[in-house]
Amino acid sequence: MLKHEVVVVGAGLAGQRAALAAREAGRDVAIVSKLHPLRSHSGAAQGGINAALGAEDSVDTHIYDTVKGSDYLGDQDAIEFFCREAGPTVVEMEHFGTVFSRSPDGSLARRAFGGAGFPRTIYAADRTGLALLQGLWERLGIEQFTLYNEWDLMRLVVRDGRVQGLVVFDRIHGIFEEIAAKSVVLATGPAGRIYGRTTNAHTCTGDGIAVAYDAGAFVKDMEFVQFHPTALLESSILITEGARGEGGILKNATGERFMTRYAPHVLELASRDVVSRAIVTEVAEGRGFSGPYGGYVHLELMHLGREKIESRLQEICDFSRHFAGIDPVREPIPVYPAQHYMMGGIGTNIRGATNLAGVFAAGEAACVSIHGANRLGGNSLLETLVFGQQAGKAAAEYAAGAPATQLRAADLEAVETPLRAWSSRPDGEDPARLRTEMQQTMERYAGIYRNEADLFEGLKRIRALRARFERIRVVDASKVYNLNLTDAVEVGHMLELAEIIFVGAYARTESRGAHARTDFPKRDDAKWMRHTMAEKGPEGPRLSYTPVAFTRWEPKERVY
Ligand SMILES: Cc1cc2nc3c(=O)[nH]c(=O)nc-3n(C[C@H](O)[C@H](O)[C@H](O)COP(=O)(O)OP(=O)(O)OC[C@H]3O[C@@H](n4cnc5c(N)ncnc54)[C@H](O)[C@@H]3O)c2cc1C
Repeated sequence: MLKHEVVVVGAGLAGQRAALAAREAGRDVAIVSKLHPLRSHSGAAQGGINAALGAEDSVDTHIYDTVKGSDYLGDQDAIEFFCREAGPTVVEMEHFGTVFSRSPDGSLARRAFGGAGFPRTIYAADRTGLALLQGLWERLGIEQFTLYNEWDLMRLVVRDGRVQGLVVFDRIHGIFEEIAAKSVVLATGPAGRIYGRTTNAHTCTGDGIAVAYDAGAFVKDMEFVQFHPTALLESSILITEGARGEGGILKNATGERFMTRYAPHVLELASRDVVSRAIVTEVAEGRGFSGPYGGYVHLELMHLGREKIESRLQEICDFSRHFAGIDPVREPIPVYPAQHYMMGGIGTNIRGATNLAGVFAAGEAACVSIHGANRLGGNSLLETLVFGQQAGKAAAEYAAGAPATQLRAADLEAVETPLRAWSSRPDGEDPARLRTEMQQTMERYAGIYRNEADLFEGLKRIRALRARFERIRVVDASKVYNLNLTDAVEVGHMLELAEIIFVGAYARTESRGAHARTDFPKRDDAKWMRHTMAEKGPEGPRLSYTPVAFTRWEPKERVY
């Protein structure tokens, strides 16, 4: 049996930063990742990372913007800590070798981003995530770690009140393994593939959140799902907010710059929930363009000129040219909102600790919560690094004081036996089909606008899909890279999270941030200024609520 002091699951920015911190604290650290680390979704991040640097900006403004952006659901103590760490974190990444874009005077270049009172988003053209991931990877020195590459987390073993280790699946050889661990950091990233239209990579299936939930962790605020306003039509590839930060504008089919009506002060740079709702409303009320892939609006960059577009927005040019056949230097880009980010995740404190002893979480899989009901662009890359480091340190401290852990043969069998049965069934449900039906259900019933009847119907449908999942069949019998099997596991995870989203959204009878209920259009601070905590029960998710932490910022109506 394999054995380590600290096991970090996930090797995106959050996982790598956690691993580095745990290693620096002197622990023996292993990393488990279903993808090669550099293929993690962090590498797809385009627009940038926020930090209040320089005399004109202030950490307090960053804090205020984040609190306001969160629609007052973010925990203010966590946000204050987070924004204070921003400057040192970005400078550290620069010292680790991240090549950021520069201003003519040589200082770090900054661009405007949605919901920010100051242009504080630091970037590397429109490939910021990749630049950070490469810098961190080089700094990490993987030879100091054991890397279980292309291994999938299947189960956390929690016994005697604390974590004992994990059961994993080695994709390359098709075998299950046990890894004993004194502490585990879950940094498994996004869950966007629950939705059909999403900017997230195919691998973003929320595994870590579902596995933690199965093991008894509280999953927090999952009803808050962020839709990015500008995804390329049809493929839903992200067109970074940086495009609007650089001066891009949105127009409807009548040629009107419609954001003047929705956010008269900051127009296209209102926060994401506001801009997404504006686009959906324009299309629903007949002022959008229409085509074989549904309604859409135009994002115009042409007025910025070739030089700026091709240097600051290189990837956007490539994506538009290759995936939509249009040249943004000469033509508008057809866009429509797509799922982009999960504000919710495994509930943690500022140090990444969950309610399960020895289990920590960080990055998009976690919910601290700093994003509350709506995340500001540029705050998520920062979150992976700030809280990745915290979780890594805390996991190392915990492991240093923890006695030996124990796994049993039965722990592995409990995972392997039912999964093997999926392959021996003569007939049953096709995982790909269940996934498609789930994605359609999420789009239709838990999208940007929600109401009681839709949420009720959607939940019913997800529960029906979960029942069908019991009869899942894996056709591929091969041992090597059996993606049919891993896909099926991922579908199971996503269905579990889909149910939590519906249950939380149904219960929350208000509109706040990204959760917009047409039947409860107002924010209700008296009743709903609190976090939703979901715990796995025999009948499905059991909800409870915890208070939001306040420091200095009184709730106000949010206008942009
Ligand atoms: C297209 C796009 C653009 C974005 N742009 C920005 C931006 O400009 N600024 C910003 O702040 N944010 C941006 N975001 C959000 C931000 O990039 C992510 O929230 C963040 O990078 C997530 O990092 P992470 O380390 O938590 O997860 P990831 O980078 O996704 O890493 C997850 C890791 O977990 C591993 N993993 C997952 N499941 C398992 C399993 N079952 N077993 C083993 N390993 C597993 C994967 O192999 C991977 O290594 C963007 C997101 C997208 C999708």
